[in-house]
Amino acid sequence: MHTLDRATQRFQAEFATSPAAIVRAPGRVNLIGEHTDYNDGFVFPLAIDRAAWLALRPRADNCVRVISLDMADDQSFDLDDLPRPDATRWIDYIIGVAWALQRGGYPLAGWEGVLAGDVPIGSGLSSSAALELAAARAFYCVSDFDWDAAQMAQIGRAAENEWLGIQTGIMDQMISAAGVAGRALLIDCRSLETTPTPLPATTSIVILDTGTRRGLVGSAYNERRAQCESAARHFGISALRDIDLATFAKRADELEPVIRWRARHVISENERTLRARDAMLAGDAEALGKLMIASHTSLRDDFEVSSPALDAIVNCANADPSCYGARMTGAGFGGCAVALVRRDDAEDFSRRVGAGYESATGNTPALYVTRASAGATTIKSE
Ligand code: ADP
Ligand code: MG
Repeated sequence: MHTLDRATQRFQAEFATSPAAIVRAPGRVNLIGEHTDYNDGFVFPLAIDRAAWLALRPRADNCVRVISLDMADDQSFDLDDLPRPDATRWIDYIIGVAWALQRGGYPLAGWEGVLAGDVPIGSGLSSSAALELAAARAFYCVSDFDWDAAQMAQIGRAAENEWLGIQTGIMDQMISAAGVAGRALLIDCRSLETTPTPLPATTSIVILDTGTRRGLVGSAYNERRAQCESAARHFGISALRDIDLATFAKRADELEPVIRWRARHVISENERTLRARDAMLAGDAEALGKLMIASHTSLRDDFEVSSPALDAIVNCANADPSCYGARMTGAGFGGCAVALVRRDDAEDFSRRVGAGYESATGNTPALYVTRASAGATTIKSE
């Protein structure tokens, strides 16, 4: 049964009526532009056809009650007395969104409903941003304020960064809020300007989940951020976004090797991301694929955030004749890769690469052909 129907059915069973509103917010996959968002740079994600769904109705009091189908849990909280985060339970993401909205001066009303998602949790497709934006959309449905995608993305990020203490860039929330069906979104992470861009015709996007997860992502992520900041400080700029590859090449020797490699990844990745836009506008799948391959090499060798499993699945994909290019996607160390492939062969590609990767590594992968979907939306409202 579709996730939406599961949420609606449970709502009916629990509340003996139909939901007054149904909202959804998607997960995402990033085509190119990795570890550039917290350097004020460019990213190029698309919202995927997997999402967090909330079936809900308003409440007369100032409480929020949510039943999570995926966590088999039922939690409530009072908007007038938000409970502090407790070891990052799933409900803390929703409380964090309420906190960030209240801090931003948004008047909030209470609601109750059922949450269900089909973004795999913890695989790097950003189920957390999907949950945050679905929660923001739920508050929007029952309260009296306007929806501004970039502002709602910042609310979701504040919930994750400041309420939960998990450091992330703005990419995940921005694409979940502002995704456009059939388009990838070039996002300027400084201005939050978004440019919907069509993918080359006759291509499909395939997500390749290595089936591996890495626990140390948080500390490695913070270390990379600090290294990037130190490089920016050295050059006297506010972020690595502000230096081009030619200028960097002249001064790279001033940096110690590790910092130099980290900076080289970010600066070259920003350029690749802008060139990816040109390739997409020209409908040039070959050129886009080559940029994705170069991105993986840079993430593996200069930024050092790949893993043997990610390298293995990317190599299998890139060796396939139907693949234009594949790379790791997301923070790294495990999780997913993304491939640009010939549309008429996408399903067979997935079977071949899944089998090849499994026999090479012994890991069980999950591969899905995805489509670019719209950002957070209301599916139904009374
Ligand atoms: P991801 O890479 O998927 O974003 P995170 O660790 O950042 O992984 O976020 C996953 C957390 O988000 C889960 O542990 C849970 O607390 C919350 N979450 C995400 N999706 C759901 C869902 N469908 N139902 C309940 N909680 C969810
Ligand atoms: Mg997340």
